[in-house]
Amino acid sequence: MTVRSIADRMAGLAELPSPLVGLRDERLERRAVRLQLKRDDLIGPDLPGNKWRKLRYNLESAEHRGFTRLLTFGGAYSNHIRATAAAGHHLGFGTVGVIRGEEHRPLNDSLAYARARGMTLTYVDRATYRRKAEPDVLAELVREFRPCYVLPEGGSNGLAVRGTAELVGEITTAFDIICCATGTGGTLAGIAAGLRGSQRAIGFAVLKGGEFLEHEVRRLQLEALREVTPNWTVDTAFHFGGYAKRQPALDSFVEDFRDRHGISLDPVYEAKMLYGLFAHVEAGSFRPGTRLVAVLS
Ligand SMILES: *Cc1c(COP(=O)(O)O)cnc(C)c1O
Repeated sequence: MTVRSIADRMAGLAELPSPLVGLRDERLERRAVRLQLKRDDLIGPDLPGNKWRKLRYNLESAEHRGFTRLLTFGGAYSNHIRATAAAGHHLGFGTVGVIRGEEHRPLNDSLAYARARGMTLTYVDRATYRRKAEPDVLAELVREFRPCYVLPEGGSNGLAVRGTAELVGEITTAFDIICCATGTGGTLAGIAAGLRGSQRAIGFAVLKGGEFLEHEVRRLQLEALREVTPNWTVDTAFHFGGYAKRQPALDSFVEDFRDRHGISLDPVYEAKMLYGLFAHVEAGSFRPGTRLVAVLS
């Protein structure tokens, strides 16, 4: 009898490569730029694109090191918390979610989903949450929940960077600039690491005060590659007031995009990125002929 490895079982949860689709849009044609969407949001129902890619090598490492439980961190609406719960459920890891702030009943959809997939939820106050990577806080959690493979917030670490870098190799057509939405920076760090030649990456920060991401992406690349690549920037101008905040202009962009292209953009991440990207197109930031790729996760 053979026991299927985590690598095999992870592969079974994603349909790769994710589709690459060209977008016909008069706003692009007017500026003579081309845009393709890398539909990483379609790789699987339980583990959307970048979350699957970020977990992949981490879960292999967890298995290799003999861990049977995963512990990670997030806000009450975290996609990473959902994805970790789903991965644990499918792959046979126990999961613990350390949630920022107080418990609210009934659980919101994200946390109810995580709970239904077997995740143990525990809540810490905001001050403690800010110190979550410090040894005394981690030691306390391990004492309570026993040895766990600890994934940082958003699942972003060196192994996550290795995973997201692989997205780039799936893009078989030539392009100049690739864009992604940026929360914790792991996706941008990896994508930039996977680029070749003069290709560049732009991460659109979805939270206010996204200037810290510059440091985070550098730190993550150093952890994964021992070097920082010079081919990426973080655009902090399109956060719309902060994480998960919305404004009428963003909502109408989402509605208009659905009418034009039949795609419902996630307002927390992808809508802000594409709003920013189209604003740059409109402003003439890209030379005519520029070939763009936008990653939907
Ligand atoms: C988590 C997430 C991101 C952000 O990825 P980071 O690596 O944290 O920057 C972007 N888009 C979607 C849909 C996500 O769930």
